[in-house]
Amino acid sequence: MKVADFETVEVRTDLLIVGGGMAACGAAVEAAYWAKKHNLTVTLVDKAAVDRSGAVAMGLSAINQYVGLKDGENTLEDYVRYVKNDLMGITREDLVANIARHVDSSVHLFEKWGLPIWTDEEGKYVHEGRWQLMINGESYKVVVAEAAKNAIGLDNIYERIFIVGPLMEGNRCAGAIGFSVRENKFYVFKAKATLVAMGGAVHVFKPRSSGEGLGRAWYPPWNSGSSAYFTIQAGAEMTCQEVRFIPVRFKDAYGPVGAWFLLFKSRRRTHSVRTTWRPAGLSWRTGSLMERSNRFRPTSAIT
Ligand SMILES: Cc1cc2nc3c(=O)[nH]c(=O)nc-3n(C[C@H](O)[C@H](O)[C@H](O)COP(=O)(O)OP(=O)(O)OC[C@H]3O[C@@H](n4cnc5c(N)ncnc54)[C@H](O)[C@@H]3O)c2cc1C
Repeated sequence: MKVADFETVEVRTDLLIVGGGMAACGAAVEAAYWAKKHNLTVTLVDKAAVDRSGAVAMGLSAINQYVGLKDGENTLEDYVRYVKNDLMGITREDLVANIARHVDSSVHLFEKWGLPIWTDEEGKYVHEGRWQLMINGESYKVVVAEAAKNAIGLDNIYERIFIVGPLMEGNRCAGAIGFSVRENKFYVFKAKATLVAMGGAVHVFKPRSSGEGLGRAWYPPWNSGSSAYFTIQAGAEMTCQEVRFIPVRFKDAYGPVGAWFLLFKSRRRTHSVRTTWRPAGLSWRTGSLMERSNRFRPTSAIT
């Protein structure tokens, strides 16, 4: 296949959202609200299928940040203090506070769109830890993607197009350039404004793991730093880049996620439950553990 055989498709839009993960879908919903009032077009492009793309592709079993302002569980100051302490003081407190003051309403939106959040007998959210809510999140991404699709319309969503970099007009970012991963097509997106949300960067540093463990990562390896590359190329200011999350790995598990951690948690949460069921072919011990985790964590997703 020669490059000459590729068709070039040009797409013009007012706001281009690059990426179709959680942040991008949320941005699409919010942007559509304002765009409709001003008759503007919002377009979203992702290298995968938005229903199951990004870090939430497989679903999640918890929401890691809920402040609980509505019920007076915590204050914004509490949250900022927690983050500052956790990151040993290296924080932009204004940014943390800004996220914290909006996050609860995002969670309420997820629930409105159909995400099942665990509640107790009094109808209050079930926490695991001070800031975390438990969910049945197998379809978390599908739920959020549906909201984005409804907001900006299917015709404005471009899937399976890998974005390679910004389209620059002098110092101004005027859109993005990419190619289809399924068809012989190049794409040129021309936009008045561009918002980039292509996830984090995995394997930036060489892991300490060796042999078979070398390529393993907690975060999805398909988040390969496109956001950082794109924004650096476009001349954007980078902030908070000094914070890196490096999960602990020991034996067959990566902290704080994965099947082993679910097992530990399920044992801890359910130590007093009597076991009455076991799947055929499994030992009594294994069956009982599975039953416990099924009873209390009715989700196959991982956190
Ligand atoms: C195993 C695991 C468990 C987690 N558990 C929890 C949890 O329980 N609770 C919680 O709150 N959070 C959890 N998280 C974190 C949460 O999933 C992420 O913080 C969140 O998904 C980040 O959203 P994002 O939009 O920034 O990135 P993503 O959701 O990863 O989206 C990035 C998008 O950009 C697209 N993209 C990337 N590169 C390109 C390119 N070059 N061209 C076009 N498109 C591109 C990708 O296809 C993807 O759709 C977990 C993450 C993992 C990996």
